[in-house]
Amino acid sequence: MTTRLPLPTPTLPPPRVDGAEQLIDTHGRVARDLRVSLTDRCNLRCTYCMPAEGLEWLPTELSLSDDEVIRLITIAVTRLGIRQVRFTGGEPLLRRSLEEIIAATSALRTDEGRPVATALTTNGLGLPRRLPGLKKAGLDRVNISLDTLDRERFTRLTRRDRLADVLEAVDAALAAGMHPVKVNSVIMPGVNEDDIVPLAEYCLARGAQLRFIEQMPLGPRDKWKREDMVTAGQILDSLRTGFELTPAEEPQGTAPAALWNARGVDKRELTGSIGVIASVTRPFCGDCDRTRLTTDGAIRTCLFSRTETSLREMIRGGAGDDDLAAVWAGAMWGKLPGHGIDDPGFLQPDRPMSAIGG
Ligand code: SAM
Ligand code: SF4
Repeated sequence: MTTRLPLPTPTLPPPRVDGAEQLIDTHGRVARDLRVSLTDRCNLRCTYCMPAEGLEWLPTELSLSDDEVIRLITIAVTRLGIRQVRFTGGEPLLRRSLEEIIAATSALRTDEGRPVATALTTNGLGLPRRLPGLKKAGLDRVNISLDTLDRERFTRLTRRDRLADVLEAVDAALAAGMHPVKVNSVIMPGVNEDDIVPLAEYCLARGAQLRFIEQMPLGPRDKWKREDMVTAGQILDSLRTGFELTPAEEPQGTAPAALWNARGVDKRELTGSIGVIASVTRPFCGDCDRTRLTTDGAIRTCLFSRTETSLREMIRGGAGDDDLAAVWAGAMWGKLPGHGIDDPGFLQPDRPMSAIGG
């Protein structure tokens, strides 16, 4: 496994302000990965993410229009060095124009002259019928969230009886040749720890890449307690009851998941890699290459930022691309070295995960 080094002392000059910068911060990190939230709404109500009644949704007029989102993505790619764009939410499939936004993104070329890599993080509801259009639009990769294989548990966890639809989505993505299809699982104490080994078996049997994510303090405030959370270490311990695990040799780079090669103890035919994202117990801020755009047009340099920079009123006030790029670069320049989530004094941001874009 890679050892994460502390961030170096800032030595860089401030960014240029002519709109042709990279997104660099004072610690020398360069953002290449843009996460775009396309809606804060969702058709599930995962208990770790949202309350049963949902949230106070953003009024439509405060959300970026398709043209505004596409303009900001274009600036990020053509002027600010972004090379991968991931669409998320809320549930991004609820955005009717998702295919058009992906098509416009896929048509862009990066600073290296390559097509932008596009990815989608989704709960999978309705994905099978949208897949042909999404592929045609140029979607490269898909991550599907699935926290349990047990129907009753799924219904309790997401407050909707839709497990069959999510399983259908995983199969459809695999059949459509999306590669790799990643499955994201959040493990909650006393809720779905029993699913760790079955989820691994399910993914390895199909050739999907499973990534367990430590639950983060970004949902309802009473749903996360540091002392109760299931840690990456505990997830690995559970996995070892069914699998031999060896650290994968491929470098982790800027990817948040530490990868393990797994082989079934009894089911020897089950082999493949499994990722564990230790966002809380082993933060990867030193390698972070992300920047985020919320549904209402705010730049966030970190999931856990307590401040953000809105570009929406600038766009609506007639700002030019140079000015927008300069403000984005300036926001990035001020990115903090870490989110402090591993610190007992950590304060949860005001926006929940679904409104930031996970
Ligand atoms: N609705 C889509 C989905 O569920 O994949 C996209 C948005 S969701 C906010 C993105 C990812 O964040 C999902 O994999 C979800 O499981 C994860 N997530 C949500 N709340 C979380 C939390 N409190 N801690 C860790 N992961 C969380
Ligand atoms: Fe919806 Fe995704 Fe949040 Fe679940 S995790 S409530 S699917 S936004």
